[in-house]
Amino acid sequence: MQYQSFLIKYAEIGTKGKNRYMFEDALIKQIRYALKSVEGQFDVTKESGRIYVKAETDYDYDDAVEALKRVFGIADICPMVQIEDKDYENLKQHVVEYMDQVYPDKNITFKVNARRGDKQYPVTSEQINRDMGEVILEAFPQMRVDVHHPDVILHVEVRQRINLFSLMIPGPGGMPVGTNGRAMLLLSGGIDSPVAGYMIAKRGVKIDAVYFHAPPYTSERAKQKVVDLANLVARYAGPINLHVVNFTDIQLYIYDKCPHEELTIIMRRYMMRIAQTIAERTGSIGLITGESIGQVASQTLQSLAATNEVCTMPVFRPVIGFDKQEIVDVSEKIGTYETSIQPYEDCCTIFVAKHPVTKPNINVIHSSERRLEEKIDQLVENALETTEQILCQG
Ligand code: ATP
Ligand code: MG
Repeated sequence: MQYQSFLIKYAEIGTKGKNRYMFEDALIKQIRYALKSVEGQFDVTKESGRIYVKAETDYDYDDAVEALKRVFGIADICPMVQIEDKDYENLKQHVVEYMDQVYPDKNITFKVNARRGDKQYPVTSEQINRDMGEVILEAFPQMRVDVHHPDVILHVEVRQRINLFSLMIPGPGGMPVGTNGRAMLLLSGGIDSPVAGYMIAKRGVKIDAVYFHAPPYTSERAKQKVVDLANLVARYAGPINLHVVNFTDIQLYIYDKCPHEELTIIMRRYMMRIAQTIAERTGSIGLITGESIGQVASQTLQSLAATNEVCTMPVFRPVIGFDKQEIVDVSEKIGTYETSIQPYEDCCTIFVAKHPVTKPNINVIHSSERRLEEKIDQLVENALETTEQILCQG
């Protein structure tokens, strides 16, 4: 069976009133974007509150479904047959053909669920249910009707055309990217931050990313790994503008001036400050990190509070209450895990102290940071000026 079109079902959350148009238009835009990478030409349209994807050429079905499964806002993907000629006898023929091709194994139970959106159509839904049930039973005596728990529900929707569908492939849910503002993801090469970016993008937020690179302590391959991860997240989130900040001089300066057990906290405070400045300059109104309470010394509640203190923007930490395994499960599902576990050092692991503070005292941190006064503003300015941008399009 080669389906020529799909009916896209979306969740109703946030789709009331004016928002509804914004939601639908953003969803259409994201569907078009996702299908760009699929062989074939597609027409994506909105018709009386429904979104349809129609293939205009031969296309790769599996690739198309995979691409649609990555579009946030889609609840279900329904491959369907669309009938232009609404003649009733013609419909019967199509229904029989449909059941024959989609269900080669005829040992199934079914029910027909007709809906008549076109009230001019001369046959009622009830009558369509009965008649189509009858022709199916006639054609395939092995099939049986079960109105309570059928294996298959055949939907017959009479609109401008008639839609036949029975398969519902679950989409990712969430909201279309672009409907909920923009935020800046602090993306490291680890497992957690790509998952964090995915989760926030799933709620409709457009994301940019920032990576703190410390050559030669972190290699080109470590940077490439982050670029790869941004590309993987972009398959769901749409194009990601990745800002690569050269963090070496700042790190060395902190290393030189501050107590080593406070290095990670102070370094993380500078990462947040810089990320926030880039966010402000590029239209983001929040930051996103992959922090999870207690995972490492820099993520105890006290450390998180110390890191958070420098931020005036909201910081979203979607995996804050997740166990590591729960984060791993999501990363496997979205396909970032294999890349995340490649063994290239990130900048935090090079400069870690043997016994980092786990309960930083904020006053102590402030006084350590005062030792940086002489040069730090200039170093931050240099880092901002030399930031490289890489567009990651999936
Ligand atoms: P991840 O698996 O995401 O690397 P992690 O468990 O290694 O997280 P940390 O290294 O403490 O945790 O980092 C916590 C968060 O800080 C990360 O999830 C990420 O959002 C941000 N972060 C850490 N290092 C960097 C970096 N080099 N560039 C950008 N963001 C970073
Ligand atoms: Mg990390």
